[in-house]
This record gives sequence, C-alpha cells and structure tokens, in this order.
Amino acid sequence: MTFAIHGLTVSRGIAIGRAVLVASSRVDVAHYFIEPGQVDAEVDRVRIGRDVVVEEIHRLQESISHMGPKEAPHELSALLDVHLMLLQDVELINGVKHWITDRLYNGEWALTTQLEIIVRQFDEMEDAYLRERKADMEQICERILRAMKGADSPVVAHVPRAARKPSQQDLLLDDTVDVPLVLIAHDLSPADMLQFKQSVFAGFITDVGGKTSHTAIVARSMDIPAVVGARTCSQLVRQDDWVIIDGDAGVVIVDPSPIILAEYGFKQRQGELERGRLQRLLHTSAVTMDGEKVQLLANIEMPEDAPGALKAGALGVGLFRSEFLFMGRQGRLPDEEEQYQAYKKAVEGMQGLPVTIRTVDVGADKPLDESVRDDAHLNPALGLRAIRWSLADPAMFLTQLRAILRAAAHGQVHLLVPMLAHAREIRQTLAHIDHARAMLDNRGMAYGPVKLGAMIEIPAAALSLPLFLRHFDFLSIGTNDLIQYTLAIDRSDESVAHLYDPLHPAVLRLVADTIAQCRAQGKPVSVCGEMAGDVGLTRLLLGLGLRSFSMHPAQILAVKQEVLRADTVKLTAWAQQVVAAEDPALAMSAP
Ligand code: PEP
Ligand code: MG
Repeated sequence: MTFAIHGLTVSRGIAIGRAVLVASSRVDVAHYFIEPGQVDAEVDRVRIGRDVVVEEIHRLQESISHMGPKEAPHELSALLDVHLMLLQDVELINGVKHWITDRLYNGEWALTTQLEIIVRQFDEMEDAYLRERKADMEQICERILRAMKGADSPVVAHVPRAARKPSQQDLLLDDTVDVPLVLIAHDLSPADMLQFKQSVFAGFITDVGGKTSHTAIVARSMDIPAVVGARTCSQLVRQDDWVIIDGDAGVVIVDPSPIILAEYGFKQRQGELERGRLQRLLHTSAVTMDGEKVQLLANIEMPEDAPGALKAGALGVGLFRSEFLFMGRQGRLPDEEEQYQAYKKAVEGMQGLPVTIRTVDVGADKPLDESVRDDAHLNPALGLRAIRWSLADPAMFLTQLRAILRAAAHGQVHLLVPMLAHAREIRQTLAHIDHARAMLDNRGMAYGPVKLGAMIEIPAAALSLPLFLRHFDFLSIGTNDLIQYTLAIDRSDESVAHLYDPLHPAVLRLVADTIAQCRAQGKPVSVCGEMAGDVGLTRLLLGLGLRSFSMHPAQILAVKQEVLRADTVKLTAWAQQVVAAEDPALAMSAP
C-alpha cells in the first residue's frame, strides 16, 4: 500500500530505490558491499561466528550441570536452551544468506538486517511469551557479532558495488541485483555519514535531525536526495520496500504504485537535465550584471573532497571542517604528522587556491565517538565545543595548530577559529598560535604564513565586531550556529525545526551588520553556513554587500546562476528594506 511520510528538506532531487534499514545495534557494525566472489567466505564468516556462540553456550551448559539449583536455577538452563534453539532459527540463517548472496552485504550488515526483520515480527505477536523472545534474539545476534569481531572479514572494507542508474524498466521489473539503495536510519552521526559517503546509496532518510544538523550538512555535501526529521520512518518502512525520496518537498513515498513511480521517474530525469544545463556555467566567472566579482568557495569535510570542489568550479575552500578527521576513532586522536599530511593533501588538491582550515569543532551534535555521545551535559550545544574544547586541551590544540602551520608551507592557508565570543578566548587563541610557531622554530621545522580568521556564529561575537576586526584578517559568518543561538533553536532538533528561520529580522540584522562593518574596514568577510548555498537567499546576501560565499560544491553552479542574473545596484536598497521589514520573508518577494 502506498503511503507518504513528511520530513524536512535537506538535499534536493529525487531518489528511487529499495530501503536499507540500518539497525541501531549496540555493537558497532560496519556496512559495506562485498564482491560476488566473496559470498561463500562471508557466509562462512557468519557461520563460524554462530558456531563460536553455540560452543560458548554448550560450555556454559556443561559448567552449570555440575551446580546445584541455587547457583544455577532451572530458568538459566531453560534460557540457554532457548538461545541454542534461536541460533538454529531457519529464518535467521536463510535471511542472512539472502542478504549476503543477493545483496552482497557484509556479514554483520546481513545479520543486523535480518535481526531487524525478525524483531518486527516478534513485536507483532499476540503471545506475550513469544514477544519476549525478541530480547533473546537480539542477545544472540549481538553475541554472534562480537564473535565475528574476533574474526575479521577477509574482504576489503568499503568496496563500493558498481552502481548503475536503473532504467524505468528495471524499476518496474523489480530487479533485485543492481537497483539503487536508499538508506533509512533512526539517526546517523556525522561520522556514520562520512562512512556512507564512500558508498553507493542513492539517498537517505533519518527519523531525527534538523535542516542544519551536521548529519544534514554531510548529506548535502554528498549531493544526494535526503530527508531528515521523518519521525517514525524507520519503523514504518520495511527492509527492501521500494521508496521514493522527494528531496525538494521533504517527502518520502513508500511502496509507490507504478503510476507514481513513472511520475517521479520523469521528475528525476527533469532534475538531471537541469543539472546538465548548469554545467555550462562551469567556466563562466561569477560576476553580477553590474560587474561585481563574487567569490564562490567550497565547504569540505575531508582532504579527498578537494578534487570535487575544483571540479565544481570552486575558487578555493572557504571552510574545511577539520573535526571530521577526529571523529569515530575510538578516542585515538590524529597526531601532528597525520593531520599535517591531511591538510597538505587538501592544500595540494586545491592547486594553489586558498584553503581555509577551521580548527576542530567537536561537541554538541558532532561527538568524537558514538560511544561518547554527550548525554551527560544537559545542553551540549551550549557546552564545551569548538574553540572551548581546544582551549581546554592545549596539547591537542597546539598539535593541530602546528600541523596547519606546516601545511601552510605548501600553499595558501587561512586558519579559521570557530565559536569565539570572549576577548580572553581571542587572546588565548592568538597566544597558542604564537606558541605553535615558536615550537616549530625550536624544532627547525618549516611552516608557512597564514591569514587568521574568526567565525561569527555566536550573537555575542556579532555584537562585538570591533574586537574581532582588530585581531583578525578576515571573518566568516557561520549562519547555522548564529541562527541556532540567536533564536534559541536546537539546530538538530526536528521538533523545533519550524522555528529555525534564516529570515528572522534579528538574524538578518546580525548578518547585515557583520557584512557592513567588515566592508567599512576593508576586511574580507564570507558566509560559510548553509545560507550561502541557498539560491533563495543569494540576491539578499548580494544586496547586503556579501561578495564571498562558501557552500557545498554541489550548490556552486546554481548560486553562480543567481549571481549572473543579479544587479547589486538594484539589490542594495531592496535588501535594506527586507532587513528592516517586520516579516522579511514577505518583503523578499520583490524586486
Ligand atoms: C555554521 O555554524 O554556520 C558553520 C558553518 O559551522 P558548522 O555548521 O560546522 O557548525
Ligand atoms: Mg558552526
């Protein structure tokens, strides 16, 4: 039966594919595709994991058989019998085989996928006793996963399966081999997203998350249709269901009829044609109709993103979110050499164009590790994140600063500091940069000059601009956080997403003043939050005097098209009216 689920628009376009539900197992599970020739070995790996658990249970049974009823109550041995029975469950065994053989999932992924299916069946059972067996099934699967962890996969991780776009015919024929896959999860951490970035998913959906949550940001950088904040989607959709993601409308259509499929197939092709048309602007300079040059820069997460940024026509990197190098490493942070190599790779990848490296911004919805998610603090977004975290751990901060300074010997590097608000923090940060230079001098190591920038993303910073203008070479407005902190809206909470408003007069006032004060002092200023890549806001930002925009590479050409059509002489007065309006969204309709 066809039904629709509404969420929040994150990334434009249409994706059509089969649902892959990522189970939220307590054991950290890798998801990757194996090669067809590795199917037997992978099936064996799960079987061996299962045999290990069977062995363990047998040993346990043996040891309790010598104990009295006090130490080993009858229930315990009955429970072990149930576990042994579940380990032989045909549905579990055959299901796992199916996901490995037909879908080329790795063993752990196949096991958690099948577990998810069985768990749902248990949930629907009338019989309370049988329903409770769900927990047993989860336990034995977790034990198999742990046993498999001891026996690493012989296959190379993250081998992407050759993805090809299916024809409409494929979709209707229900082809099960090379169909596109759509990822559905309750939640995905930014680190998970990074892992999926290497994979072949045609789109993704999460139950939670706001429009500018970091998960949404990484999705946008992947340039695939996505919807977040889809509430109960991961419970309503079943493994392998056909799903359409309408990224433009923030809608998910489950189990579409052939007519709906055909309609969306058409829309998808229209979107591809539009992208093709935009490609013609690749080598056109971003200059407005009245001759104003505009700098369009890329936001990247990893050094490997640099070639993509160049290919999309970026004139540099306006924001390299260095924290992605630090995530998902089970507490082992990258050392100076590893960071230096990563920054150098990004700098060399940009072939002489400037690269703005932002110092680490972890905390809030960007935990270092899933296992250390910050639930302990009531308000992580207001807690120890970004520069606060760096200043609290000077050794870590100095390591990063040295690595960035060394990378600056290989090209133009701008060093950007997130979340500053206090004069004291600015002084400490600058002192650390001097200290890092002195350390490199002492070691006789080469380093290069850097331009120093601060992010304006806390209202207090936007209201203390003279302080920032005195100490920094350039400013970059982080509108994602500026909106979050100005409006007291958690950017990753879908329940308040309707209040997250870039066009709130207070937000516009802070953005407009920052741009105006920078221009008055001849200081470069850019916007690197999501507002910069929103084509609906390009003319407004141009009208406010912005000439440098940093965004996901995929958005550059669409923004360039807006720039080419704009006349800043006309836009200036209009933009001031919009900022002064009671309802700027309404005032935006002209000119
Ligand atoms: C911002 O806050 O606008 C920004 C660019 O930084 P991040 O999204 O990484 O917090
Ligand atoms: Mg920010």
